[in-house]
Amino acid sequence: MAHVVTEPCVKCKYTDCVTVCPVDCFHEDKEMLVIDPEVCIDCGACVPECPVQAIFVEDDVPEQWKSYIALNAKKAQELPGITEKKEPLAKK
Ligand code: SF4
Ligand code: SF4
Repeated sequence: MAHVVTEPCVKCKYTDCVTVCPVDCFHEDKEMLVIDPEVCIDCGACVPECPVQAIFVEDDVPEQWKSYIALNAKKAQELPGITEKKEPLAKK
C-alpha cells in the first residue's frame, strides 16, 4: 500500500508535503504532485501537512478519486522528484 495524492492538489502546489517525507517519494508535473508507491513507506507524515486534504492512504481514497491511485504510480515513474518547498501556483 501507499499514500496517494488526489484531485484537490491540482493547481495547488503549496508543496508543504514534500518537506516532511523521509524517503523523498514526491514527484511533480505542471499542475500537481504525485507519490511513488514503490518508495512511500506509509509513515503518514505528509497527510496533516496538506492544507487541502489531498493525500489519502490508498485504501481510503474517496470513490471519485480512485483513478488517482494508478495515476500516481504511472506519473511517479515519468516525472522529476521534488524535495523542497516551492511557491504555490495560483488556484484557479
Ligand atoms: S500540500 Fe497538498 S495540495 Fe499541496 S502539493 Fe502537497 S499534496 Fe498537493
Ligand atoms: S506517507 Fe510518508 S513516505 Fe509516504 S509520501 Fe507521505 S511522507 Fe512520504
